[in-house]
Amino acid sequence: MFSLYDSILKGGHVVDPANNVDGIFDVAINKGKIESVSDSLDGHGDTESFDVSGKIVMPGHIDSHAHLSTPGGDIDRSYGHRMLAESGTTTALDLAGNPSILCEGIKLRGAGLNVACIAGLQPAVTIPSEKPSRNVIRDLIYKLKDNGGIGVKMLGGYYPFSPETSSEIIQEANDQESWVAFHVGTKDSGSDITGLREVPQIIGRGRLHVAHVNSYTRGLTDTAEKEAEEAIKIISEIKNQVVSEVYLAQINGTNGLCDEDGNLVYNVARNCMVARKYSPDDNGLRKALFDGYGSAVIERDGRMILVSGSEAVEIWESNSTNQALSFPVNSPIANYKLVTAKNPQGDFVIDAISTDGGALPRNVAIERTMALVTFGALSISEAVKKLSCNPAEMLGLKDRGHFSQGAEADITIVDPSTGKACMSFVKGNVIMKDGKSVSQGGNWLILAEGEKIAKNSGIPYEIIDLSLSKLYR
Ligand SMILES: [Zn+2]
Repeated sequence: MFSLYDSILKGGHVVDPANNVDGIFDVAINKGKIESVSDSLDGHGDTESFDVSGKIVMPGHIDSHAHLSTPGGDIDRSYGHRMLAESGTTTALDLAGNPSILCEGIKLRGAGLNVACIAGLQPAVTIPSEKPSRNVIRDLIYKLKDNGGIGVKMLGGYYPFSPETSSEIIQEANDQESWVAFHVGTKDSGSDITGLREVPQIIGRGRLHVAHVNSYTRGLTDTAEKEAEEAIKIISEIKNQVVSEVYLAQINGTNGLCDEDGNLVYNVARNCMVARKYSPDDNGLRKALFDGYGSAVIERDGRMILVSGSEAVEIWESNSTNQALSFPVNSPIANYKLVTAKNPQGDFVIDAISTDGGALPRNVAIERTMALVTFGALSISEAVKKLSCNPAEMLGLKDRGHFSQGAEADITIVDPSTGKACMSFVKGNVIMKDGKSVSQGGNWLILAEGEKIAKNSGIPYEIIDLSLSKLYR
């Protein structure tokens, strides 16, 4: 039976800032692409119709910082596919994953998302040493792209390099036009505002994705508000060299690993203790978990959840302290400032709103952003810019982040009464309905170098071009 459209979303409040659309329209989809946005479109024959009246219809949420395949025994990040899909995300950048693990995760627990992956640099695990030569860095990035990754991330809060090595990694990634993200912090600084202060010097004239800016404004050296103001100033000054995002959950994600003397190994975890005056060791952490300040992240019913109190203590101990944990350390006031800050030209200083979730149960980017709309801090168009248009530009995804004719039909439908996503589509297929993941597999976003491995994997893939990304424009 002939049909002009495969499906039509009827009567929703369509918000498509790239095309200056903000009103009640129908959206027609054909062969996985946006066909038309217009008043009262009619289907023919077997056109599927979705009544989305009273709902917000936006280009799909593109999460520029998620976790779907980060190696390490503490949790299986592949549960993150379902969790992201259920919160309304349609595309995710796995920020510190492993392409092979990502592949397995897509096959086993994929939820129909578009996913790209960069690899975290962990000395002696993913990179030979703390002081790799330029050749080693070069080969590592080449190999990673062949394996389907799009770049690398420096994990300054966990495995800091020297400022010099950090610079070299950025330079090499830039030379190869590969993605390079930085959880700030080096041997000379911390995973806080002191680490962010080093960034202008470290990047020189290079390009960089500054990960989760909110993580450096938790009030460790000054008030969180003052630190947020300083962070905005720092990012503003290097605005044409960096892309950046903020996540709006109050909880962070870290790991409770202790050394044989009982001291917390990771800077991030130690900071969580210091923030509430617990000692940065096993005794302090045990108390923090028991008191309910910290929570353990565990799998239950196919999703990751938080547990606290004595249950959390038992889990942390039974995993010999190598346990994913979470603490409510992000400052809502700092986050508010970071999200809404604009430069004198009227552009947002921080490009996007991410989840830093996936397998961490904090996939609240959409609902927290919608709360800011209700509050009057962002217009609905601005919200959609930060959730979809800007991250599409960050990654150079030209056919996403808008509803122009021929764009990928990646769509997030939001219920304004709850602020939560209630339905979403990837390439015209429903991947989430009423908050439940209803799809499998995924669409692997790779660079041209990764085509061979992607083809062999059997997973549908799409080649992206980082020369189109905001990082390299
Ligand atoms: Zn992260």
